[in-house]
Amino acid sequence: MGSAWSFALARLSAAIGLAIAGGLIFGRVDLWLVALLAAYLLLQLSSLYRLHRWLKHRSEEDPPDLGGVWGDVVALVGRIYRRKQFHKRRVVQLFREFRRLTAAMPEGVLLLTNDREILWFNRTAGVMLGLHRKVDFGMRIENLVRHPDFARYIAAGPQSAPVTIRSAQGAEERFLAFQLIPAAEQQLLLVRDITRETRLEAMRKDFVANASHELRSPLTVVAGYLDQLADDHGVDPVWRAPIEEMRRQAERMRLIVEDLLELSRLEASDKEAPYDPVDLGGMLALLRKEALARVQRPREITLQLDSDRRLLGSETELHSIAANLVSNACKFTPAEGTITIRWWVDVEGGHLSVQDTGIGIPAEHIPRLTERFYRVDKGRSRKSGGSGLGLAIVKHALQRHGGRLAIESVEGRGSTFSCHFPAKRVA
Ligand code: ADP
Repeated sequence: MGSAWSFALARLSAAIGLAIAGGLIFGRVDLWLVALLAAYLLLQLSSLYRLHRWLKHRSEEDPPDLGGVWGDVVALVGRIYRRKQFHKRRVVQLFREFRRLTAAMPEGVLLLTNDREILWFNRTAGVMLGLHRKVDFGMRIENLVRHPDFARYIAAGPQSAPVTIRSAQGAEERFLAFQLIPAAEQQLLLVRDITRETRLEAMRKDFVANASHELRSPLTVVAGYLDQLADDHGVDPVWRAPIEEMRRQAERMRLIVEDLLELSRLEASDKEAPYDPVDLGGMLALLRKEALARVQRPREITLQLDSDRRLLGSETELHSIAANLVSNACKFTPAEGTITIRWWVDVEGGHLSVQDTGIGIPAEHIPRLTERFYRVDKGRSRKSGGSGLGLAIVKHALQRHGGRLAIESVEGRGSTFSCHFPAKRVA
């Protein structure tokens, strides 16, 4: 028990003792006691009244000057009040800072309920999506951002890949990228304006496509004259070797230009590949025959067809995939090696693999092989007539079929390039 309580109890006991003594001396102990208790009660009530008044107007009034237990209570309440004020000020300050910060953010941020109703958004999101505070709070986001791709993305939930949508605001075309992030009971939707990046990317693609296209005609003329010169017996024999070399280099340039054009074509369409039934077995048999006719090739090329089911896709693109893989296997496998081409179907889908016992690829190069012009050994690739674009084409064409490329290789032992197609691509 605190000292204030002991003092209060001692004081009350002393007062009761005095009242009893007074009663015994002057008679009517009961009256003396009642008078004392009434006085005591009045005193307590007045303290309680002052405390109550102060609690009601505590922001304007100073705390009452009360002694004893009441004084302790006033001090305690004062402390709790000051602590609460301090936390309130901090929360308000934090909230203001948070608002300033989110307003300065170049990205749009929206907080959604799990039912995709808008709880809050920052200024950037409001400007990007044309949302209005107050009116749009509580609305479902797909009712305000109307785009089929967005609706599909938002319905699929945070685990699906971020989506980009094209929006036209007046005459201006804009590209917005959306990403959904799960946040406890809510979801965070990030919006980024990627118009600039998209335009630059489109410009780069156009430039490559146009440059390749422009190079094609002059190259055809040069190659044509070189062919004529090579067949012309009147040409000084000293020029034979240089003309042959020029022909080889012109042919390499033609291959690079053709590959660049093919890559541009693949990149240009963002739609998925068609679903035409393709006889992959027949195509692979033909490719094997062509490979066997090559001057530089390994001794044995086997074809293992475990399924006669057709693949649904674009015939030219699938041919390009298989031809590039078989051609690489031939280029990077010595004469005494072997190549095995395989096509099989299982529950996961269709699989095409080209396995060789060639020079293999050091592990650190594998992740970068599908980059344009990436070669493990530049000299060797050039000598074998490679453009350095083959695997980039394979990757792009596969992506358009919803497939993926897997590369396994051991340096000095050989490599396996596998194309995995989803089940919906198998007839
Ligand atoms: P390239 O025209 O040079 O063949 P690709 O894009 O087809 O271009 O291949 C990129 C590089 O990957 C090649 O230069 C080569 O270093 C490596 N590569 C591709 N296929 C094989 C393979 N079957 N065996 C060993 N290395 C390979």
